[in-house]
Amino acid sequence: MANGLKIIFVFVDGLGIGDNNPETNPLRDARFPNLAKLLANAIPIDACLGVDGLPQSATGQATLLTGTNAAKEMGRHIEGFPPASLKKLIEKENLFFKLRKLSKRCTFANSYWIDDPHTIPQRRQSVTTVMALTALGGVRGKKELLAGKAVNHDITRWTMHTRGYNGPLVSPEEAADHLLNIGEENDFTLFEYFLTDRAGHSRNRDLVFQTLETLERFLPKVATFAEQPNHLFLLCSDHGNIEDLSVFTHTKNPVPLIALGDRSENFQSLQTLADVTPAILDCFAGEQNV
Ligand SMILES: [Zn+2]
Repeated sequence: MANGLKIIFVFVDGLGIGDNNPETNPLRDARFPNLAKLLANAIPIDACLGVDGLPQSATGQATLLTGTNAAKEMGRHIEGFPPASLKKLIEKENLFFKLRKLSKRCTFANSYWIDDPHTIPQRRQSVTTVMALTALGGVRGKKELLAGKAVNHDITRWTMHTRGYNGPLVSPEEAADHLLNIGEENDFTLFEYFLTDRAGHSRNRDLVFQTLETLERFLPKVATFAEQPNHLFLLCSDHGNIEDLSVFTHTKNPVPLIALGDRSENFQSLQTLADVTPAILDCFAGEQNV
């Protein structure tokens, strides 16, 4: 189906919609006009999911990428890597699995610095890793990264030199090009960026600004994907964090859902993280007669 819808979905960990004060919300800093422009049209999405306590990554991501309220299902917000009970839900309900049932080509664009991209230690399996291993049979490894056919989680590869990577850094724009190429080859492409959450926890303002500077250059280029017909750019997060430098924990702020391009109207009235996966599936459901 050559003319079917293509989606690039950028998942950014720990990115909430904060207040307008640049003193506490670095997203409002004048250094980031592109981020401000993107966020100006964001739809605020609830990440608290009707469960007490601060929202956390494992249940937030599972909710975002399965369409099931995982925090409710588990009875609490669960941080970090999903435990076995949550993995079961992810394996059964994840978006890749559901899209493959609709015969859609989907991929996880992140690279893993490993030799065998089919095995990743159980204790290091994030929600997206579980999805890729179970629904797609593996992840992108060293070979793909070196060929520019994957994007490292840090976008520019700056964290990789301590891990044995001897290649050059890539610019955020170049990494965006790699992601755009992957997006053209698939119906649905997911990329995950989690350094926003790490920076938000770090108490290190320089790291926060460096992290956002990378996104400031990377995201507008990726968002140009939406300028072509039948192309949709999506961005969402799992919970707030980096948008409030007065605390070093997650926040209860709504998270931004950005939808640009074809079928972006499907997303305008969404309320919570659990609504995103059904809306994505709905975008493709109309394609059966194309
Ligand atoms: Zn966190």
